[in-house]
Amino acid sequence: MKTYKHLFFDLDRTLWDFDKNADETFKIIYSKYGLQNRGVSSLEAFREVYEKHNNLLWSFYRKGEIKKVILNVRRFEMSLNNFGIQDTTLACDIADEYTSMDPNRIYLFPNTIETLEYLFPKYKLHLITNGFEEVQYPKIALSGMKKFFDQVITSEEAGCKKPEKDIFYFAFEKTGATPEESIMIGDDLEVDILGARSVGMDQVYVNYHHKEHDEEVTMEVNDLISLTGLF
Ligand SMILES: [Mg+2]
Repeated sequence: MKTYKHLFFDLDRTLWDFDKNADETFKIIYSKYGLQNRGVSSLEAFREVYEKHNNLLWSFYRKGEIKKVILNVRRFEMSLNNFGIQDTTLACDIADEYTSMDPNRIYLFPNTIETLEYLFPKYKLHLITNGFEEVQYPKIALSGMKKFFDQVITSEEAGCKKPEKDIFYFAFEKTGATPEESIMIGDDLEVDILGARSVGMDQVYVNYHHKEHDEEVTMEVNDLISLTGLF
């Protein structure tokens, strides 16, 4: 194996258990805004349509086709529309609630802290995230991960998003790393893995759900603790 000096981690769905954290937030939103009484059949149904709209809008956001504020409100507005609710004010309120509550959720994937504790003395650890800056920093701090990371690179700071090459070049500049001595660790084949590969960086695909794929990744794990056997 190559000798690596810098390990770059993705945050959402790699270390921070995005879906489990969102479950909590959605439960509160569903009851607080009385969505059941307004025609939203169930929390699960609401979540399902939200995921669909959110994924689509995120793909537009990643390409720079829509702004953050539009993404934030439209995903709820479109989800409410699916249940016959046309209420932009409600969508705005829910969007605000969501972004203010989400960073306070601290569920990490199993063994996140143990794995970071193992890697921390051996490597420089960094984060590269496409998430919104105002939520990512509190998430990192409140979940107890801040002390492990030398640099945090956000897409907002870099002015571009994964999988664009420029965010990785920005990260190399900020950390003083070179692609040859760096490896990207992430859960998203397109965003993290292909992005890293495009700038000549090795990759670890964190494949929690054992998804089948045809990509040639440098390494693949199904849980975080396996990283301690690799590095
Ligand atoms: Mg991710």
